[in-house]
Amino acid sequence: MIVDGNGSDINSEFNTNLISVKEKIQSALNRCGDPHRQVTLIAVSKKQPINKIQELINAGQTDFGESYVQEALPKMDQFAESPIYWHFIGNLQTKKAKTVAGRFKLIHSVDSLKLAQGLHKKAKSLDLTQPVLIQVNIANEKQKGGIPLEELTGLAREILAMEHLRLDGLMLMPPFFDDPENARPYFAGLRGCRDQLQQELKVTLPHLSMGMSGDFEVAVEEGATLVRVGTALFGTRSDC
Ligand SMILES: *Cc1c(COP(=O)(O)O)cnc(C)c1O
Repeated sequence: MIVDGNGSDINSEFNTNLISVKEKIQSALNRCGDPHRQVTLIAVSKKQPINKIQELINAGQTDFGESYVQEALPKMDQFAESPIYWHFIGNLQTKKAKTVAGRFKLIHSVDSLKLAQGLHKKAKSLDLTQPVLIQVNIANEKQKGGIPLEELTGLAREILAMEHLRLDGLMLMPPFFDDPENARPYFAGLRGCRDQLQQELKVTLPHLSMGMSGDFEVAVEEGATLVRVGTALFGTRSDC
């Protein structure tokens, strides 16, 4: 089941894109025999103009994702009056932790103890709890963010001990493939990591953030609860 907004602007191309992506998510859920799992569609709005974001809001979209701090914060200020949620999904430098803690519904990309400590310190000073995911670099790709698999349990333990962070699950950016079927083992791998962590640490980690425009259907079939979709909703970015 897709967590839904209340669409109104039925004529826009964005509404058409939104309906199409949501239908594909629901079909994937049906195919894998889990039709009632809640999946949140995050519209990745990095490098997309304000007017397109507004169109998507008009079409009923509620959750948006940004990857760059300097771009995200001013954009968020422009939509301060809109009833929408923001997710931070990009690489995050420790020195910027204090500018993002408390401003995002969920930070998907925690991949070091130092970063977690920076977020925790700021969340504590604001007297709030910041929900986070740990990004895992399953394929050990050098240029990509994410913690190596062998350090996952250690970091999860540390975060679980931080009173002002709430660990909600894991996030993955698999290697790029033309055929999304090739990403399937990585998605299944992240689910396996999550299941193992839950057992080992006796906690519940409800969320798996995985799947982008090219592969979100496969990710949903493998257990995604948060999909991060940019170009399939907005069209190409200014960097493409
Ligand atoms: C840009 C980005 C996305 C969305 O990519 P699309 O291919 O446009 O759907 C998803 N996740 C992360 C972390 C990104 O940086």
